[in-house]
Amino acid sequence: MTRPLYTKILMTRLLVSTKTTLTIERGRVQDHVASECVYTIVSCKYSNIGCTEKMKRKDMKDHEEDDKVYLHLSLEKIHELSIGLE
Ligand SMILES: [Zn+2]
Repeated sequence: MTRPLYTKILMTRLLVSTKTTLTIERGRVQDHVASECVYTIVSCKYSNIGCTEKMKRKDMKDHEEDDKVYLHLSLEKIHELSIGLE
């Protein structure tokens, strides 16, 4: 019996951090780190309005949900832009 192709793909057991291990298809490691790994350090998505926070992706979700901070930063940014228009 011929084995399906996917069973032939070698799986790499990768130590992502000291706390967790994930099994990732070989060749997908870079993609994983860049786009989904919870231990990758990422910039806040509100960096364009002045937030300079950088932290692990798993902590960023909570950070980005802090609406009051972003309302404040947005108002500052609007103020900054309106001064630029005068
Ligand atoms: Zn932020």
